[in-house]
This record gives sequence, structure tokens and C-alpha cells, in this order.
Amino acid sequence: MLSKALAGLHFFRCDNSRVTRTSASCATGLAGEYRRRGSPVRSPVAAQADRSLAIQGGIPRLRAVPHEDTGIDPSAADDVAAVVRTGRTCYWGGGPKAKEFERAFAALVGRRAGFFHNSGTAALQTALFALNVGSGDEVALGSSGFCAAANVVHHLQARPVFLPTNPDTLLVDENLAPWLGGDTKAALITHFFGNVVDVEEVQRALPPGVPLVEDAGQAHGALLRGRRVGSFGEIGSFAGSHKKLVAAGQGGINVYDSDDIDYRMRMYAHHGKDGSGEVRVAGYNLRGGEMEATLALASLRRLEQLAHERNAAASAMRAVCEEAGVRCAQPSGTDCLPVWFDLPVILDEDWREHRAWLLKALEAENVAPWTYPSLIQLEWVRAYLTERGWWGDREEAVLAHEAKLWDRVVVLPTQVSRADAVEQAEALVAVIAA
Ligand SMILES: *Cc1c(COP(=O)(O)O)cnc(C)c1O
Repeated sequence: MLSKALAGLHFFRCDNSRVTRTSASCATGLAGEYRRRGSPVRSPVAAQADRSLAIQGGIPRLRAVPHEDTGIDPSAADDVAAVVRTGRTCYWGGGPKAKEFERAFAALVGRRAGFFHNSGTAALQTALFALNVGSGDEVALGSSGFCAAANVVHHLQARPVFLPTNPDTLLVDENLAPWLGGDTKAALITHFFGNVVDVEEVQRALPPGVPLVEDAGQAHGALLRGRRVGSFGEIGSFAGSHKKLVAAGQGGINVYDSDDIDYRMRMYAHHGKDGSGEVRVAGYNLRGGEMEATLALASLRRLEQLAHERNAAASAMRAVCEEAGVRCAQPSGTDCLPVWFDLPVILDEDWREHRAWLLKALEAENVAPWTYPSLIQLEWVRAYLTERGWWGDREEAVLAHEAKLWDRVVVLPTQVSRADAVEQAEALVAVIAA
């Protein structure tokens, strides 16, 4: 079992006895000379004067940008070819491979049923539709998440009510009741970066009867109190796209227990047609295909191994960062097992205005860092809310809190080898904490 395999792994604690290599030995792999690091994080001004950095003409610390695992299992090529040879790659309601994947994934998460989609975004949209979210309805939305979560609220013409982020975990702050509107129809919360929101606490903070969608698009396999994420809310939603832990190239899946949810979701994703073939609502074509389901099945078989590898990469990067005094996002609680999709690093305040430079400096070192905005910072959000009279003091307050935090976040990918992970983190440390 995944939980057993990962139970002994130190995926978040910084082991104080660790030592890091000097940058001179970076190109030689994991062996090399070691020294203890104690220097504090330095100012952007000091970094920008450092001639040893590649951006200032120094030698890049990594020889090449690390290879990132896309999640596609090449050994599934013959199975995909076999699907093609049947002459049919898509079926109304989902074909045999899609059904097999739905059964296997629902069983893994511990749910009654699943529905395979053509993208993770599609799955989030059908999830909200299945919970009867429509025009003008309030959706309590964690501002910590991937843009798709906010985009689908807009596609349904619903009203996003943004919830602030906890500055230590970079997940939604579970004390969310003060931020809710007066008439919450549903909540959408993301286990961002593969880190685990205490969704049981979220459910207690929501008004009784308000259904929850867990966006677990980056958190396949993660656990909360021994249970899989995606098994707590009315719907657990998972992306299956590029680099996701269960990858189909393009795909997504919702898991749930209710027949009514299943009915509404499948109708919406089949052009709005129900079992009788009549168009009941203005739906979409959002179901997943057989080639993608075949890839998802192959990827699912590797979940335990991939989760282990990613946590090992994250753990190694965290150790390097924390030893140098560089802060990383913390897991939310003691009784959870994140499966890190990215390792988020939280820069000191004085780096906020210099993050763009830092990204360039890291790229020059052959590191491929990334950033995410808080969802309330998305460009379309303010205009959309203002147009409808939904932008007010609460939104201003959340935006100010979020910008101050997320403008300082840089993430490092975990889809790399452990050795590359260490070098990535060492390059980051060399720039901001040398
Ligand atoms: C990738 C992702 C999605 C969207 O999935 P797509 O398949 O890219 O549409 C949604 N939520 C999270 C957390 C994701 O990481």
C-alpha cells in the first residue's frame, strides 16, 4: 500500500544533521565535498552583485535543464495501439477502458463511482454543475489553487467568494467561516501542490448541507488521517493531464457516491442529453477517450512508485532549502501525507519586488522554476466581479493578503530525479542565500 510505503519517508521535516555540498561539486552528482551551511538569506541587492551567478556571467550551476517526467508510461504504447486496432477510440457514456479506469480509481480513493473526463478542468466544471451551481450562486473558493478552479466558476456564471491562504501551508486557511458570503451553494477547495487541506475542518466550518468539491488535481494518492484525499467532499476531482501523478496526457476524473451526482454530471458532459436521448440542458462534450483511459490505467499502476519518487525529490529540496534558512510551505497537519507536486518556496519580504529577476537568474542556472498567482489575482476576476457588483471590501482585504504572500512564492518541480532536485535547490540557495 502507498501509505505503508511512504510512512517512513521524511518528506517534510528538515533533518538538522544534514549537510549540503559546496556549489563547486554540483556537476559531479551526489558525491562531493560537504560543508555545513549556516549563512542567512541575503538581500536582492547582494545577490544582484554576485558575479558567480550565471545571470552575471558565471558558469550555470546545472549543466542542463533537468528532465521532467510527463507522467506518460511508454510501456503502455502497445495497449494504446491495441485500442486503435479495434477501430474505435470513443464511446457514448465511456468505453471499456474508461469504465475500467473509473472502477479502479474510485476503488483506490474509496468511492462508489467515477466518471472519466477529457480534462481536469472539465471534471471541475461538471462537478459544480452536478451540485446544482448555476448563475449567480455563491461558490466558496479557496484562493490557493490552480486557475482552472476559478475559471469553471466563471463558466457557470456563478459568484466566486474567495477564501484566504494560510501563510505557512499555502493552502486555504481552514478557519474560513468569517470569509463566507450569506448564501453559500457549494465549496471548491484545492489540495494545492499535493499538500493536504484538512477538509474535515473545512466541512465543519461550512454551513450545514453545503457540498464540497475537493480539487485533488495535484494530490493523487495523498492521505488525510489515513484516508485518500478526494474521499471527503461530495466530489473528489482529479486532473490527468501533463505531469499529473495519474497522467493520461489529457484527462480528468471525478469520484463520488451519489447517483444523482452521477446522473447530472454525465448528462452535462454528454451534450446535455439524459438516458432518453433528449437534450435537457445546454451541455458539453466532456467525456474521456479510450486511448487516454489506457494511459491513465498504466499510470495508475505506477502511482505508488511515482509518489515515492516525488516525495523523495521534494524532501531532498526541502532539506537543502531549510538548512540555508530558506522557507518552504509546510504540510498542514501532523496526520496527513502530502504527495508533493511542486515544492513551494516562500521568499523573504524584500524579495517580493525582485521575484522576476530571481526567475531569470534561476533560468540562467538551468533551473526551471514556476510561479502561481493566488486565484483572486487572476486578471479577469476583478472585472467579472465588479461588473456584477460582487467586488467589495472583503475582496479588497483578501486580495491584499494574497498578493503579499503569493508574490513571494517560487515553486520547484518534483518531477525530476533526486540528484537533479538537489541541484535545483542548491542553485536556488546559491542565488538567494549564498
Ligand atoms: C492541472 C490541474 C487542473 C486542471 O486540469 P487540466 O487537465 O489541465 O484541465 C485542475 N486543478 C489542479 C490542482 C491542477 O493541477
